[in-house]
Amino acid sequence: MFDICVLGSLNMDLVINVEKIPAIGETILAQDFKKVPGGKGANQAVAAARLKNRVVMLGCVGNDDNGNILVENMKKDGIETKYIKTIKDIPTGIALITVDSLGNNTISVYAGANMNIKEDDIDSLKDVIINSNIIIAQFETPVETTIKAFKLAKEHGKITILNPAPARRIPNELIKLSDIIVPNETETEIITGINPADDEKIKTAAKSIIDKGAEFVIITLGSRGAAIVSKDNYEEIAAYKVDAVDTTAAGDSFIGGIASFLSKKGLSFDILCSAVKFANKVSAIAVTRQGAQSSLPYLNEVYEKYG
Ligand code: ATP
Repeated sequence: MFDICVLGSLNMDLVINVEKIPAIGETILAQDFKKVPGGKGANQAVAAARLKNRVVMLGCVGNDDNGNILVENMKKDGIETKYIKTIKDIPTGIALITVDSLGNNTISVYAGANMNIKEDDIDSLKDVIINSNIIIAQFETPVETTIKAFKLAKEHGKITILNPAPARRIPNELIKLSDIIVPNETETEIITGINPADDEKIKTAAKSIIDKGAEFVIITLGSRGAAIVSKDNYEEIAAYKVDAVDTTAAGDSFIGGIASFLSKKGLSFDILCSAVKFANKVSAIAVTRQGAQSSLPYLNEVYEKYG
């Protein structure tokens, strides 16, 4: 039995620090380089595991050093990795991240092996999904696979959370299968055509997703916090005031926080508001630290800092 099942990507992040992001055709010397574990799926799994949940990861890596490092790294957080498939002849996913001296970045992701978790795999993973309380997915793995997994999860009364990132149109079938959809501001605008700049626009954007069949929408608003919307309710919860140094994985830590809270309490609008309060604490710590997985806090750190 697992609290949380994450269906998603495992990427090796190759991070280069430069004074200024090079123009097309320009070659520059970089100040620093680091190779760090990432991928939205893996980050969310690590976030949930550090908050003391039994987590299982579903996804694919290549038969290469990056893949081995990513899987071994997840094991360190106690995540069940035995269902991660190793794909021959296709490299593990990578993200090439260039960060300038002001903290601006450009990111190019090569999905690689991540695209090899197929609909058919869900048949052999059936027991894992129906033995988990919550299933989370993003858009760095094939959407057809997510639809099949969520369908199975809903048939067995599980909670499904979709983080529609990187942004793309969400198939109507997947909206209907998602209990909670969690986009950030940019994703909200790309998905709905509405920039969630104020309360009215947040409500209108979220309602346009709810009208298509999702039960709840949580729009994350960066340093403003997050808004929770259902057919009949609306609540905005402010973020904690902190000195943010690196917001990488803010969204992933938030999803880990939400899933962690719900896995113990179930799902209703009021529970979701409490879950957002908890997730805001988790993310507030994550943004005060450098990196993706390296920034994700353990449960005791959340309690120590925010009670
Ligand atoms: P990223 O893509 O950088 O991982 P995101 O764009 O998906 O993040 P955000 O909406 O920026 O997600 O942030 C998610 C959550 O993290 C927010 O709802 C909030 O709780 C927290 N957060 C983000 N930025 C800050 C900040 N500057 N101060 C405090 N909390 C923050």
